[in-house]
Amino acid sequence: MRSFCLLRTRYLLHQVFPGQSITTMQRKYSLNVCAQLLRTQGYIDGHWISAASTFPVVDPATGEEIAKVADCGPAEAKQAVDSAHKAFYTWKQYTAKERSVLLRKWFDLLTLHKEDLAKLITFECGKTMKESLAEIAYSSSFLEWFSEQARRVYGDIVQPNTRDRRILLLKQPVGVASVITPWNFPSAMITRKVGAALAAGCTVVVKPAEDTPLSALALAELAGQAGIPAGVFNVVPCSREKTPSVGEVLCTDPLVAMVSFTGSTATGKILLKQAADTVKKTSMELGGHAPFIVFDSADVDKAVAGAMASKFRNSGQTCVCSNRFLVQNGIHDHFVKKLGQAMDTELRLGHGSDPNTTQGPLINVRAAQKVENQITDAVSRGATVLRGGKRLDGSFVQPTLLVDVTTDMLCTQQETFGPLLPVIRFNTEEEALAIANASQMGLAGYFYSQDISQIWRVTEALEVGMVGVNEGIISTSEASFGGVKQSGLGREGSKYGIDEYLDVKYMCFGGLTH
Ligand code: NAP
Repeated sequence: MRSFCLLRTRYLLHQVFPGQSITTMQRKYSLNVCAQLLRTQGYIDGHWISAASTFPVVDPATGEEIAKVADCGPAEAKQAVDSAHKAFYTWKQYTAKERSVLLRKWFDLLTLHKEDLAKLITFECGKTMKESLAEIAYSSSFLEWFSEQARRVYGDIVQPNTRDRRILLLKQPVGVASVITPWNFPSAMITRKVGAALAAGCTVVVKPAEDTPLSALALAELAGQAGIPAGVFNVVPCSREKTPSVGEVLCTDPLVAMVSFTGSTATGKILLKQAADTVKKTSMELGGHAPFIVFDSADVDKAVAGAMASKFRNSGQTCVCSNRFLVQNGIHDHFVKKLGQAMDTELRLGHGSDPNTTQGPLINVRAAQKVENQITDAVSRGATVLRGGKRLDGSFVQPTLLVDVTTDMLCTQQETFGPLLPVIRFNTEEEALAIANASQMGLAGYFYSQDISQIWRVTEALEVGMVGVNEGIISTSEASFGGVKQSGLGREGSKYGIDEYLDVKYMCFGGLTH
């Protein structure tokens, strides 16, 4: 029988529901999920473990505490690394098919529990239930994809340089992988790495973000239920205070072979430096600053739909979110008018579990202040606010449309990570490409055009790892995810994702006689 844990949260946000009385604005939202999935301890060597203290997990929409989670420190991190190292020697001996079957069972369990897993995301990260369900579908797709890819790891037999030799190139798992992930996709950023790692025969220690440990711990519960052996998948949740010391263990311990990180470029650089001393393999999925270019030949309705999806998904908090909108002179006013109308009709702020909501809060007040600061800076330098423009109570920010934006403004120089849509007007393709490429980041880029030659020219010229042509949402487990420049190293998903967790060993089989 399912037992339930009921955690009450209250919701009172004056400015999010303007014009309503206090009584009607008071809404109650409950995180009501299967108790087995609401785990609050660390998961090491197949056991749930406590720590000396706990840290709170809060609902970003209300600021109310929804759980207290074990605050693991360096000692627990070391214990997890040792456990993963021990488990590696048996896990790598499993046949690819055996690993594949277990990953598939894990996928099936995520699918079975998708509603509860989605609620956890909504309550700890703030996104709408529709988006949380989409994240679980995306997250589980990596377990499915890599359960299939596990059986397709091939080595090579190559032409020998002498007659008495045969040359083989073997693929072997690298060993223990430390996996450090952000809060904006608290489930998918884990499975995108761990699916590949486990398929390859590696074991992992996961450190989720302080804001969103519950999704990671629910994944651990389901990994256990799926029969993933003890020590193969470990989770050490910790507070932001403990993060540097836990991170140091995960990036420097000699038993760790690889560090796989998703998060900001600033943190990625710290981890790269830490991993350098013991020459670990690294995979880095870092920040973005995506351009979204609308050329005169674009289908305006499609471009508006793409802009809405790309900018406002997860309230603008995705690494592949469009951050700089470049719109050609001839189409600029028409595009901006239609975009404003779409924002008026499609965007509704509120708690993520309210079915009417399309825009949840930002993850915390700091994030909201960053967006507010970018808006203030842009306006002070001559930008015009066409929609929104204000930070509201807590961590809510009005979806904001700015025009007359120039390249010297903060919003065109920094990743925003919020619902701010700044539009820069341009005249020529060369000018748009120069602005788009004038960034140290190179994760995703988007453009709308119906000119075939221009589509090829611009795709090849954009300095990014992923291009959406007449598409605003492009992520899928079948395609490679990753960036160039300071947006990262390596690729996740696709047939390439598993390579990050494999070494190539050259076997020279000599002394053969004829
Ligand atoms: P972040 O501050 O870099 O945090 C990411 C993770 O790193 C969290 O678990 C964080 O722990 C941890 N961390 C921070 N400092 C650390 C340290 N010294 N040692 C070890 N771990 C440390 O990034 P964020 O603000 O959470 O996430 C947003 C950023 O991630 C954006 O820049 C976004 O573009 C990027 N992102 C990239 C991708 C991609 O695939 N390229 C995907 C999603 C997000 P705490 O939570 O405890 O601080």
